[in-house]
Amino acid sequence: MVKEGVANALRTATTRLMPVSGTPRLDAELLLAHALGIDRNDLLMRQRDLTVPPGFVALIERRLTGEPIAYITGIRDFWTISLHVTPDVLIPRPDTETLIEAAIGHFGAKTPVRILDLGTGSGALLLAALSQWPQARGVGVDISPAALAVAQGNADRLGLAPRAAFRLGDWGEGLDGLFDLILINPPYIAREVALAGDVLHEPDGALFAGKEGLDDYRRIAPMLPCLLAPGGMAAIEIGYDQRVSVSALFADQGLSVTVRRDLAGHDRCLIATPPPPV
Ligand code: GLN
Repeated sequence: MVKEGVANALRTATTRLMPVSGTPRLDAELLLAHALGIDRNDLLMRQRDLTVPPGFVALIERRLTGEPIAYITGIRDFWTISLHVTPDVLIPRPDTETLIEAAIGHFGAKTPVRILDLGTGSGALLLAALSQWPQARGVGVDISPAALAVAQGNADRLGLAPRAAFRLGDWGEGLDGLFDLILINPPYIAREVALAGDVLHEPDGALFAGKEGLDDYRRIAPMLPCLLAPGGMAAIEIGYDQRVSVSALFADQGLSVTVRRDLAGHDRCLIATPPPPV
């Protein structure tokens, strides 16, 4: 039997994935690299020397059912780190990196020493921040024990566990102490929005927040003034059309609020800071 060449296999897989994915070629490359146990750059450089492993087609079949690439490979890159992900956690999005950019914009050459990540999920925001600021320490809170196990595993693998603590909890409830940087990517999709595609495989609890998508912001906003250190900031992810509604909730708590856009130009991150001392 003639072994199927990598180039051919990638072409066939790309064509098959077109109906289910906006990035069929990339998906095919990532899945083949995963099947071979190498990274995508290696795959592209060494194409001619490699043969297609038998498991590759099964991975394509999974993708054809709409299963996200990150859940099939178990890995997703975020900011400068690589995270393990499972269906217990939201898959980190590039849009969410806007929160880290906002924090860098706020702190400049300074370090936010105490960091809090509310709704940490895979640990993406906390661990990205800890890798950004080697002098920082932080706490990641989640209501899902399964998510906390994923986050702890990521902290261990990244060597960040000595500076990261994880805690089962309901947003900021029961937390005391002040934090320089608070990172929050809560669920914010309105209940009646019909989602399609990859997102259907992600945990509902990480996505939906009541009738208008505002339920969790309403709970979080009153907790922030007691948790934010003087000179600190909270970076809060919002939906592209929520700037006005969510800003009002945080402004009502006496916080100053500005907005930062993501790379697509959508309002994505609220920056909430304590009022300057009078
Ligand atoms: N931005 C995500 C999406 O639209 C939602 C993430 C969230 O609710 N925090 O799929």
